[in-house]
Amino acid sequence: MKGALRALSLWVYTAVMEANATIALREELESQRASLRNELEELGYGAEVRAYDPNFADSSQVTAERGEAEALVTTLATNLRDVEHALAKFDAGTYGQCEACHEEIAPARLEAVPTARYCINCAAKKR
Ligand SMILES: [Zn+2]
Repeated sequence: MKGALRALSLWVYTAVMEANATIALREELESQRASLRNELEELGYGAEVRAYDPNFADSSQVTAERGEAEALVTTLATNLRDVEHALAKFDAGTYGQCEACHEEIAPARLEAVPTARYCINCAAKKR
């Protein structure tokens, strides 16, 4: 009886720890999403339309600066898309599931790469 109780409390403990780790990952993703959105906004992504106005000054310096900003915006937008995809998986209840083989993605991998879509095996195959 005592053993069963201990097994039960260990099970509860593990379940709670896992839930906490998942909540922490979700919070991390949400804060990443917020900061990516902020960065894009600070880069004038919202007001980017003005920068792309063909009537806007078009010196080579502006073009170079625009090129750099564009590369950064692309990176940030890609990261944001990955983060939003991971959060959508949370909502769908499929977070932590490999999108190729539908096996569980190792928790250590998710901790390192919270936006991971594939388990380590499938990710290796895709490379
Ligand atoms: Zn897989």
